[in-house]
Amino acid sequence: MRLGAGITAGVSMGISAERKALAGGPISSLSQRPSAEAGRSGRLSNSPAAQTSKALRPLGIFFANHKQDTGLHLWDLQRWKREIDDTRRMGANAIWFLPFQFGQHSPKDFEDMAPHWTLQRALCRAVADTGLEVGFYQGLNDVFPETWNKHPEWHAVRGDYMLGECQVCPSVPEARQELLRLRERLYAGLPRIDYIVTQITDYGGCGCDMCAPYPKTYLKALEEQSALARRYHPGVKMVASGLSASSADNDMLRDLLPKMTWADNVWELPRGPKPAIKASMPETSMVGGWGEFGPCPILAEIKRVYEYDYGHFAGVAQYCEGIHDDVNRFALLQFAQDPRRTVEDVARAYAEDWLKLSGRSAEQVGEVIAGLGTEISFDRFYGSLGYGADNPQADERVRILVDVRTQSRGLEDNFRYWLLHYRAVCESFSTVSGSLTIEMLRKEAEAARAAFLRLEPEYAQFIAKLDPNQLPGRIEWNWPRTIKVAFNRERSFS
Ligand SMILES: [Zn+2]
Repeated sequence: MRLGAGITAGVSMGISAERKALAGGPISSLSQRPSAEAGRSGRLSNSPAAQTSKALRPLGIFFANHKQDTGLHLWDLQRWKREIDDTRRMGANAIWFLPFQFGQHSPKDFEDMAPHWTLQRALCRAVADTGLEVGFYQGLNDVFPETWNKHPEWHAVRGDYMLGECQVCPSVPEARQELLRLRERLYAGLPRIDYIVTQITDYGGCGCDMCAPYPKTYLKALEEQSALARRYHPGVKMVASGLSASSADNDMLRDLLPKMTWADNVWELPRGPKPAIKASMPETSMVGGWGEFGPCPILAEIKRVYEYDYGHFAGVAQYCEGIHDDVNRFALLQFAQDPRRTVEDVARAYAEDWLKLSGRSAEQVGEVIAGLGTEISFDRFYGSLGYGADNPQADERVRILVDVRTQSRGLEDNFRYWLLHYRAVCESFSTVSGSLTIEMLRKEAEAARAAFLRLEPEYAQFIAKLDPNQLPGRIEWNWPRTIKVAFNRERSFS
């Protein structure tokens, strides 16, 4: 079970529907060269809500550093500090993280000098020292695996909730005491906490009769945990969330939350009772392959999301599971503040600010970013050799990125460049034809993976662990670009 699985279930479906609609053509044609000046001035959208930019608090990124991420859980403090600083420079005023998913750890990890717990405290301190607010995600009802194994009578009951690892029933008094004991140690140990978000589920929940109706049990248990948190951090804001729960549960939360004086915000849902902190619509690190093919830039979708929701949220805490959504995070921090900005403008700003490009190179790479994001399918076209015929600009994007790299040597050492480059190469393998040779594309894919090893070894480890069929062009039968040649060759023997 992934944290955020519900988010994916709810949102990616929306995105993939949108992607299908987009499949008829690239978001931005490389042959169209939008004027940079028009972009900079911010073409006004038709959305009546999107009239002014606004100050959001919090405005930040939630780094889900847990077992399912694409490298975050392997970072040392120095790597975290770089990310914290970059995120601040992208415009964030808060950073969220996931200090302890108890079901994924052992009590040893929670000892004073344990590497994991030491790092979480240092990371918390580093965020605060950078002048940013600190938020974190905490499951409501998970304990350590050995505790969970020792007490089968405490186990949460499966039902409509996504439980994750080692969930216990919050209606069992002894289990609840253990939940409070673990969380008190967590609150006491972290040097600064400004927000705690705890979702009703994903991960968390219990479907037993004692807990029904569960929204009531969830709020009661969260109220106890918030009293404990405030003992150590009097100013902490408690954030409830019905994300991933049913509409009926959200309706019940909506009825109950106005009376809950201890609850300050909601994370995305339910809308109405408390100021909303926008969570994840769209979730930017799970779309388009979950980092398996580099980032999936979805700037146009992010812009649309913030256009339609503008005016309905007070802050942003965008969920992410690795560096692969860097370009989306940047875009989101811009569109959240001002959805009137154009995709071309924001994509070009990323090329300028983070790839250090200027002039024509920045313009071209901006267009590449705006045009990337085609769904990559690497295992579904045995029945159709024509699959993947819808991305005619794919090779042109690779060619531009390679040309820009040879002209601007700094890009060799810029992981953000290689992320976009890897995506572009994967999209080329995901289309049936193009101007570049398979050999060149394979060579470029290898160059990108070598660069990750050198520049972002934790992400490189994630890529290295993938099945060979997820590596672009490695197994011919799995990629539209290679299957036709391979299959025709086979048929020449019969
Ligand atoms: Zn229960």
